[in-house]
Amino acid sequence: MNSGSASMVECFSSIQGEGVLVGLRQAFLRFSGCNLSCSFCDTPGMTRVPDECLFELTPGRRDFFGVPNPVACDRLFSLIQSWTVGWPGIHHSISVTGGEPLLYAAQLLEWLPRLRELLPIYLETNGTLSDALSPLIPHLDYIGMDIKLPSASGCPDLWQEHRAFLKVASQRSVFVKVVIDQSTEEWEIERSCALIAEVDRAIPLILQPMTLPDGSIAISPLRTLQFQELASGLNEVRVIPQTHKFMGQL
Ligand code: SF4
Repeated sequence: MNSGSASMVECFSSIQGEGVLVGLRQAFLRFSGCNLSCSFCDTPGMTRVPDECLFELTPGRRDFFGVPNPVACDRLFSLIQSWTVGWPGIHHSISVTGGEPLLYAAQLLEWLPRLRELLPIYLETNGTLSDALSPLIPHLDYIGMDIKLPSASGCPDLWQEHRAFLKVASQRSVFVKVVIDQSTEEWEIERSCALIAEVDRAIPLILQPMTLPDGSIAISPLRTLQFQELASGLNEVRVIPQTHKFMGQL
């Protein structure tokens, strides 16, 4: 794979279901693979690179066709350009997501300046690869980063990585997302808040109650309220579940 192409899972148009841009229409570019393995991961194409990336011909109509992997920037640019020309104004931005899209930092360095001619760029990331993020900062408009709590995610201790990442990301419009469930402990919320406050307490924190495969929420209403209260030292703490799941959106 050269730096002009990348292994991708799908490109489609949908409604952003998470974070501060919730409800906005976006063009989603999903890259394959991840450097973490969260216990709650529900993202397709993370363990095996699919032979083809699925491109949606008409935005939001699910009329997919396959493009062999790895995908070249020209193919992707043509698709998104056809959407912006044929359906002007329907998309707020491009969501660059995964998996972990920063595994493709070399490609993104070439791709993002071109794609940004079409729409603003929103990076969705697990917030652990700060070195990969740094050179991309000038080409990003919004960043949504995770803090992975050991309890809910099953991931190892990533506090150092998240701290380094947030410092770099704070050069842009950034928010932090933390997935919570009934196993989440108070010290994890306190430590997340301290990490954010260390950089800038005005950075929004999104507490995202985990959605289980059967659609139920994995944390009680009372516990959710208690965690929001615990984070009140920050300027902005919102509770937003994965809204795309109960809307039947991708
Ligand atoms: S960071 Fe995201 S894509 Fe990667 S394993 Fe965790 S949930 Fe899945």
